[in-house]
Amino acid sequence: MADILLVLHTGCDGSLSKGALESIATTVDLSAKLGGSFAVGVIGAGAGAAADTIAGCGAEKFYVVEDEAVATPRYSSDAKAATALIQKAGAQIVLASGSSRLTRCMPGAAYRTGAQIDTHIVALAVEAGVLKAQRWYYRQRILTTLSRAARPWVLLVEGGIQPAWQGAAGVAEKESVAVEFTAVEQRTVIKGVESPAADAQTIRPDAALLFVAGAGWTKKQADGEYHISDASTLIQGFLNKAGASLGSSKSLVDLQSDGQATLSFMSHMNQVGQTGTTPRHAKGLSTCCHGEEPHAVGWRFINERRAINMDANCGWAQGKADVVYIANAFEVIAKVNELLG
Ligand SMILES: Cc1cc2nc3c(=O)[nH]c(=O)nc-3n(C[C@H](O)[C@H](O)[C@H](O)COP(=O)(O)OP(=O)(O)OC[C@H]3O[C@@H](n4cnc5c(N)ncnc54)[C@H](O)[C@@H]3O)c2cc1C
Repeated sequence: MADILLVLHTGCDGSLSKGALESIATTVDLSAKLGGSFAVGVIGAGAGAAADTIAGCGAEKFYVVEDEAVATPRYSSDAKAATALIQKAGAQIVLASGSSRLTRCMPGAAYRTGAQIDTHIVALAVEAGVLKAQRWYYRQRILTTLSRAARPWVLLVEGGIQPAWQGAAGVAEKESVAVEFTAVEQRTVIKGVESPAADAQTIRPDAALLFVAGAGWTKKQADGEYHISDASTLIQGFLNKAGASLGSSKSLVDLQSDGQATLSFMSHMNQVGQTGTTPRHAKGLSTCCHGEEPHAVGWRFINERRAINMDANCGWAQGKADVVYIANAFEVIAKVNELLG
């Protein structure tokens, strides 16, 4: 019986995601620190073939559930499959990649197996033989280190905390785990997928640059006129050319719910800050945004910060940015777009 079980799932193309490969690296690392062994459980269509692609990861055994019932994500069947994997492997520590599919079903599987569960884990360490996990609380303001005596202990591991595992494929030592799914457990079906066009997707977590637009883009400019359509063209042009991710201040996205004319491609999903998100990018460029504390607090994980603002007394100039350009963002971004070709 392995000490650790890692639970993964295949994507709709039968492959393992980058997040899944990262969680393999986390498991290999933890297993070495604990001096034990680990097994991998894979749920989903093509689970057996997916296990073969990671045959060289060092797992002592691979358990697979590839019944038609788990070909698509669904809480009831996924929770049952994950429960069966935990029971079959008998491991005391259960890791799982923090994908939306597993984040949804693992709490149910933990409850059914009498396990404790912690989510959003960003680091695992072993101190004097004791497993310690770290996670953030209160919108990434308090980093806690915790351990638990309870076993099994299920830990959902965040993406981006380890490089993706790379290694040899082969023929994995697999065991198919039989799970009987009832009709009720399979009654929720996916009838179709509606997704925005690729270029309409403005939130790009893997982008090197975060481009933040503030409410200034929608304010009257020096000529006394609004230039919202120009702002849209400039911002979308920049995003497409630079491959940047789009963030927003709260004031800008709130304009939309107030019924005022604003940037149509912006939603509350883009909002960065205390009541928004805390994205992680190597660089950030803030434009037409004042840089107030409730907004700038969302920039905690942006390594290099720059801002364009016409106000030399804006918040960015008061120690929140590395570089502040005191300039008209309309002119600067038009020039940058021209240079980007
Ligand atoms: C409890 C609480 C929670 C909050 N949470 C958040 C949050 O999560 N995220 C968030 O963003 N805010 C949050 N806020 C609001 C925050 O305090 C600010 O009100 C908001 O961030 C201001 O948005 P802004 O800078 O885009 O707009 P403004 O303050 O209106 O600033 C617009 C800026 O654009 C500049 N500008 C105008 N035209 C140009 C131009 N042509 N070129 C260059 N610069 C130009 C102006 O100089 C100005 O600095 C919160 C507030 C509270 C009280």
